[in-house]
Amino acid sequence: MNHNFDVLIIGGGAVGCAVARELSRYDLSIALVEKEADVAAGASGRNSAVVHAGFNNKPGSLMAKLCVEGNQGFEAACQELDVPYRKTGKLLVAFDQADLDTLARLKAQGEENGCRGLRLLPQEELRAKLPQVGGIGALESPETAVFDPFLYTAALAENAHQNGVQFFLNHQVTAIQKTPEGFRVTAGDKDFSARRVVNCAGLFSAEMAALAGLDRYRIYPCRGEYFILDKTDILPMPIYPAPKAGIGGLGVHLTPTIHGNIIIGPSAEYIEDPADTASTQPVMDKLWAEAQQLLPGLKGRHIIGSYAGIRPKQAPPGEGGFRDFVIREEVACPGLVNLIGIESPGLTASLPIGRMVTGILSLSMDMTEKKDFTPTRKGILRFRDQTPEEQARLIAQDPDYGEVVCRCQTVTKAEIRQAIENPLGARTVSAIKYRAWATTGRCSGGYCLPKISEILTKEYGMAPEEITHRGEGSHLFTGRVKV
Ligand SMILES: Cc1cc2nc3c(=O)[nH]c(=O)nc-3n(C[C@H](O)[C@H](O)[C@H](O)COP(=O)(O)OP(=O)(O)OC[C@H]3O[C@@H](n4cnc5c(N)ncnc54)[C@H](O)[C@@H]3O)c2cc1C
Repeated sequence: MNHNFDVLIIGGGAVGCAVARELSRYDLSIALVEKEADVAAGASGRNSAVVHAGFNNKPGSLMAKLCVEGNQGFEAACQELDVPYRKTGKLLVAFDQADLDTLARLKAQGEENGCRGLRLLPQEELRAKLPQVGGIGALESPETAVFDPFLYTAALAENAHQNGVQFFLNHQVTAIQKTPEGFRVTAGDKDFSARRVVNCAGLFSAEMAALAGLDRYRIYPCRGEYFILDKTDILPMPIYPAPKAGIGGLGVHLTPTIHGNIIIGPSAEYIEDPADTASTQPVMDKLWAEAQQLLPGLKGRHIIGSYAGIRPKQAPPGEGGFRDFVIREEVACPGLVNLIGIESPGLTASLPIGRMVTGILSLSMDMTEKKDFTPTRKGILRFRDQTPEEQARLIAQDPDYGEVVCRCQTVTKAEIRQAIENPLGARTVSAIKYRAWATTGRCSGGYCLPKISEILTKEYGMAPEEITHRGEGSHLFTGRVKV
């Protein structure tokens, strides 16, 4: 097989997949290499899932410009890509006079950045709006939204794939060599040649730049831990505290997810190992105490899980805060476009980042728009969201809709099958989980995981020993325990 491409993208997070999707509008041969067994395996699958409005970022920065642009186009993009999205609005809550001053400053900053509809709420209005929330005043952001970041990333990837981009999962880049024509990149067991390389490797982007001979970047991993609460309707919109200077995040917040759960977090803690997504007791205790201050009625019995995501920060521990995104073609290495320090609001900004990279590449490449580019992509139909009449029609059409595999979330066998048959060919339990939303309920897969394993073995011919949670090193079964 020929592995020569016009553009090679490193990293299948939201940013790499958005770059792939935007570039797939043009007549180019494009490949994306991802070291993990599926897309969204890094920060893009481990975050707060909020479409930010853009008032937190410094006016004139790339973060501010691309976030506001991303926010304003996000709903339309989710419609095109069939990704769940809900404009909830958001409240930033003040607990003292210093916080009220911070909120007034953020309102002015947001207006300078182009955010729409920001409003300061006095205590009475905050009480009337959300009586369950503590605080003495708030900043309301009506344009903030929540969405499903995993499905968003997978949808960008699938749409790029539909438009001709080749995906190579389980292909870790280990060498990048400059050649007269461009680059020779070793990933997994293959050598790729490409005229241009776009480095979207998140936490490992400085490492990729160094492989290409540029030692100037440094990434400091900064972990954010979260609690997941069971489905509840106690909170209609994300609630954040007024941010404190230098914490390197936006503060511990409560966010209703698009699927009806609430997440609490994230913490912000610099760590050594960029792969260490552990949840730790001291941080979880602190998260819970801070969440109680925001929403005093929270009960421990609501907790059903935890997770952590890691920010690729450019600001070292002593500095804290945010440094702006770096998105540029390197003068010292023409043809290499580096994306460094794409921390929050990187999801919100992902499509504008994709367009910015397209603009950079168009300065040195012929870019002819394709006549047959398809901007839309269809996701898996959610049985549980259909009317009883539609459900009956689906069951008549395909009896697998009549078999519920995940009881907590009412996910049918037909949906599990569609998740297994995803266009990217990702066959891990987590690939099925995030596409069909199975195993995500209170039982955490206790009921449906054996059934999913059975479908994978009996209907798709996988040996039980081949089934993994997230790829190599996470096998579900290591041998027989029963004859
Ligand atoms: C705790 C937390 C909360 C956040 N909340 C929000 C939010 O609410 N809203 C928002 O807009 N943003 C948020 N963000 C930021 C957002 O998640 C990131 O900016 C965005 O996901 C970055 O996408 P990415 O594609 O650059 O990186 P990633 O998603 O990390 O993708 C990089 C990919 O590169 C791959 N890779 C790395 N090295 C190699 C290699 N050698 N070869 C091949 N592949 C490689 C990785 O496996 C990974 O899949 C949050 C981030 C964190 C950590």
